Amino acid sequence: MTRDQQPFRTRFAPSPTGFLHIGGARTALFAWLAARHTQGQFILRIEDTDTERSTQASVDAILDGMHWLGLDYDEGPYFQSERMARYQEVVAELLDQGLAYQCYCSKARLESLREQAMQGGHKPRYDGKCRDLEISPNDIEPVIRFKNPDDGMVTFYDHVYGEISVENSELDDLVIMRADGTPTYNFAVVIDDLDMKINLVLRGDDHINNTPRQINLYKALGAQVPEFAHVPMILGPDGQRYSKRHGAMGVTGWREQGYVPSAMLNYLARLGWSHGDQEFFSVDELVSLFTLDGINRKASRFDTEKLTWLNHHYLRQEGSTEVIEELTWHLSRLGLGLDDGPDLSALLRVQAERIDRLDELAKQSAPFFEDFKDYDAQAAKKHLRPVAIEPMETLLSELSSMTDWSPDRLQEAVQKTADDLDITFGKIGMPLRVALVGHGQSPAINQTLYLLGKTRAIQRIERAIEFMQQRQLDASEQQA
Ligand code: GLU
Repeated sequence: MTRDQQPFRTRFAPSPTGFLHIGGARTALFAWLAARHTQGQFILRIEDTDTERSTQASVDAILDGMHWLGLDYDEGPYFQSERMARYQEVVAELLDQGLAYQCYCSKARLESLREQAMQGGHKPRYDGKCRDLEISPNDIEPVIRFKNPDDGMVTFYDHVYGEISVENSELDDLVIMRADGTPTYNFAVVIDDLDMKINLVLRGDDHINNTPRQINLYKALGAQVPEFAHVPMILGPDGQRYSKRHGAMGVTGWREQGYVPSAMLNYLARLGWSHGDQEFFSVDELVSLFTLDGINRKASRFDTEKLTWLNHHYLRQEGSTEVIEELTWHLSRLGLGLDDGPDLSALLRVQAERIDRLDELAKQSAPFFEDFKDYDAQAAKKHLRPVAIEPMETLLSELSSMTDWSPDRLQEAVQKTADDLDITFGKIGMPLRVALVGHGQSPAINQTLYLLGKTRAIQRIERAIEFMQQRQLDASEQQA
């Protein structure tokens, strides 16, 4: 009974008490996809009624994360903290209609109720003592409770879990407003979803127990109940809830680690949703293929290796403007100016074959943008030895006369030098590599030369020759 064809108005409703973590990002993505697939709307609402734990920094982190992932919203961000008058208004209406009441029970009384229930092996439940109070103590600020129906059942269809039924006798009278006048989550969420005309509530399954209570509130308000989809949680490799302990971090932390949005979105989508055996999905494909019945009921495990594998795939997408933008961001974080370096598409074509994260790719590409300070001591010791002076000098004259600085011609030039001197390619390759980038790791030598450009390559070889000559001099002085 999926009704995927009606336009869904969905929302993402994070509490700003930390960064946008993987679970939140996936919930946001699914809600966004449900809206986009049905040409509906996606709304962002910040649930910041917990003033002690909510911070502006978290709001910013959430907005940044969503922006980076490209999860655009049609309305919002709305802030619950700006809607207090509205919650109070509805509470007043419910009180008027006798659908809610003031509760003066002390903490101590509630605590002893709880203990009694636990001892008797029951679920703790408010006993409704204040439901029909005649006189109210005037020295205590009451909380407001919703009069939950005593009997009957709440039944709803969840798009992931199927039909769920709960006896009303299992539910107690929910506190909807605290003594300080702030609404509780279960109340604010219903009023918001109603006012914002949400017709599909998609959220983490940690809220599944709240749903029957919320449905009772909708009914009391005479409102139409939205549809629900609760998505299973994400586990770490050890089967426990995925958390900081497993290296979980905010979405923008993954950006810093060199992942690109398409890889992240593709990964998040496949984390608990599938479409046959397909692994790669562009965002457009996700929008056209996403339906709620593809969401898995089983919790999925976070797998960094798989994310990295996807990232590698996206880094090798020729002509991806997203990858170029991300690479530019990484380079500028390292203080590397684009004007001084190679064409980024060319750089990516070469480097993305061997490197699967952009942070690393940018770092390893630094020698193409600026001169390195010192040689890696070990690499220099091993490869920049006086025996390499002659090969480097021969190559230098070969390269100096080149007009077509292309990878193919460069390959020929290095090979010709090796042939002329009757030495192996490797005898030139390693010293040349250290000469060009300062250490022993670089792409294929002809590609390295190509990316550096003629002027820079020649300067670096000259510098290495001087270094080796100095070394030769030092050695003979020591011998003398
Ligand atoms: N603020 C709640 C959370 O972050 C939202 C739950 C909901 O979507 O209803 O878990």
